[in-house]
Amino acid sequence: MEKNYRAELVGVFGDPVDGNPTGVMEEAGFRAKGLNYRYITAKVLPEALGAAIAGARAMHMKGFNLTMPHKVRVIPFLDGISEAARIIGAVNTVYEENGRYMGENTDGKGFVEAMKMQGAPIEGKRIVLLGAGGAGKAIGVECALAGARHITIVNRNRERGEELARIIADNTPCAAAYLPWEGTVRIPDCDILVNATCVGLAPDVDQKPDIDYDGVHPGMVVSDVVFNPEWPPFLREARARGAKAITGLGMLVCQGARNFTLWTGEEAPFAAMFDALKGEFGA
Ligand code: NAP
Repeated sequence: MEKNYRAELVGVFGDPVDGNPTGVMEEAGFRAKGLNYRYITAKVLPEALGAAIAGARAMHMKGFNLTMPHKVRVIPFLDGISEAARIIGAVNTVYEENGRYMGENTDGKGFVEAMKMQGAPIEGKRIVLLGAGGAGKAIGVECALAGARHITIVNRNRERGEELARIIADNTPCAAAYLPWEGTVRIPDCDILVNATCVGLAPDVDQKPDIDYDGVHPGMVVSDVVFNPEWPPFLREARARGAKAITGLGMLVCQGARNFTLWTGEEAPFAAMFDALKGEFGA
């Protein structure tokens, strides 16, 4: 058989991007499957996004992730986007299909999948979502599409919070409401409480969202999008109050596993990918 020295290329475009750990996880997956793929972590400034995508096409890249500040701006450069990405209004993953670059948003799907894997399915649940930024939007929309009963969005910025409630109500069967976040917020009773803000993310590892933690009780599931550190104060507090706590690592690996399959067409080696990330951030 003729030898093939050419690697298939995938990666991530962003700025800042140096601290993005996705390559560790994806490359562990490629190694575990014996695939000659390379994940390139590339600094791409906002004004260079078009050039980067033209370069990706020229090099026949199989696809790429987008992180800040490209998730919304990338859309006009693509050949199509999924229905969920359209509703969310952002793309975090591009994959090649019949020579076309297609946009998908796997963040929220990764969250829903990780919750299910850890015994906390979304169907029929009342959810309180802290944050309405990129992660909050993806999680809110995908939880609504996955059958959540009601979602309360708590966000400091009123416009963003109200917009997310409207997007969910207009595009899904799930009921949604906005709750302003002024000072220490009292959260309504719910089945699942999610921190989708960046509060607690390294280096601010002593911070936790400003909510009244007396509202957290056993029987509640509490999860965090922050994965560095694995156990931020928000989750430690929830666990101490008897709630079932779910870390952000599962979401990260589940969305990474989906991307792996979109790029390679193969089932992702979940354990190898999880262990690689746990080695980076796990406590
Ligand atoms: P973003 O678009 O910048 O949104 C940030 C959100 O945090 C906004 O809702 C913002 O509220 C809120 N916020 C910031 N500081 C706050 C404070 N002191 N108190 C209350 N709310 C505050 O960021 P993003 O892309 O959504 O990322 C958010 C987090 O998700 C990051 O930590 C990121 O690493 C994590 N993430 C994790 C995964 C995973 O797989 N686990 C995937 C994606 C992202 P305002 O609108 O009021 O400013």
